[in-house]
Amino acid sequence: MPLIPTFFLPTMFSTTLVKALRNPERPTISVEFFPPKDERSAETMLRTARTLQPLGVDFASITYGAGGTSRDTTLSYGAELVAMGFPLIGHLTCVGHSRQELADLVAQYDAAGFSGILALRGDPPKGQSTFTAHPEGFSHAAELVKLVQEIRPNRFAIGVAGFPELHPEALNEASDIRFLADKVAAGADFVTTQLFLDNADYFRFVALARAAGVEAPILPGVMPVLSLKQARNFCGFCKACIPPALIAELEACGDDEEAQRKVGVSWAQRQIRELFEHNAPGVHLYILNKAESAVEVLSALRS
Ligand SMILES: Cc1cc2nc3c(=O)[nH]c(=O)nc-3n(C[C@H](O)[C@H](O)[C@H](O)COP(=O)(O)OP(=O)(O)OC[C@H]3O[C@@H](n4cnc5c(N)ncnc54)[C@H](O)[C@@H]3O)c2cc1C
Repeated sequence: MPLIPTFFLPTMFSTTLVKALRNPERPTISVEFFPPKDERSAETMLRTARTLQPLGVDFASITYGAGGTSRDTTLSYGAELVAMGFPLIGHLTCVGHSRQELADLVAQYDAAGFSGILALRGDPPKGQSTFTAHPEGFSHAAELVKLVQEIRPNRFAIGVAGFPELHPEALNEASDIRFLADKVAAGADFVTTQLFLDNADYFRFVALARAAGVEAPILPGVMPVLSLKQARNFCGFCKACIPPALIAELEACGDDEEAQRKVGVSWAQRQIRELFEHNAPGVHLYILNKAESAVEVLSALRS
């Protein structure tokens, strides 16, 4: 399906997206960008966006301060993606913000034509081991969901994060699922998961969430691995496990980075095929602003 024409945006898109995620006949495809640090990486991101645009991407998202990236550029690059025609989900975190600052940012996302907000607590800033809320801010993502619903009722499709392999700070599985249910009860329309490389983790997570009364669509996050080194770095950061079978396939490529990248594409394609066979509402691709693997994965999906 082509991108939704811009004249429908952004107000209609929140309901369109929620309906699309609930359509069992047609899984959605979305891609995640992060705001580039300099002009060169900006060119790469925008080239990637232009390359992916005709390939049946239903919507894009852009991160906010993830992994220490700048937060100011989420709005400006997000606006560029909107201008290109992407229905856009802007990520937003509570880190270092008062309630008023968050409300101002929500208003700016509205003015920039963002279609949705992924409401997150965020990680502790570099050098801090625990999350400390701003004195006039929020401690948990559920509070941000409530704020968005309060100041812009039904304006945005609101997403929240889910963790098939448990959030690293979770007390236990039961509490993590209970807090996920709280976020949805606060007004979230859908859940996007942290990346996982073993679908069994996603299936188990969805079953637990459904048992806890979470009915919202749970969009699986899939990353086409680029190399064993990249997977170890990234999965270490996200606390996601790399299945031994994938490690073996990557190791069998030796130092051949292109062969490793192909293994990553093929693994992601197999993951997505199985997810769709099990009625996942779509797939959210962690593309790291790079086009090549995403194009290969998407071409197979929409062909
Ligand atoms: C799809 C996705 C996109 C992301 N994008 C970004 C991004 O753009 N920028 C960025 O900085 N980070 C991003 N992150 C990382 C995210 O900010 C971190 O994982 C963060 O540590 C948790 O955020 P959360 O929204 O899940 O928090 P919460 O839902 O608030 O949960 C955080 C922890 O607190 C616990 N908890 C929740 N509610 C309560 C409660 N009431 N009482 C006690 N404990 C509670 C949870 O179990 C969990 O352990 C993303 C993560 C995902 C999965």
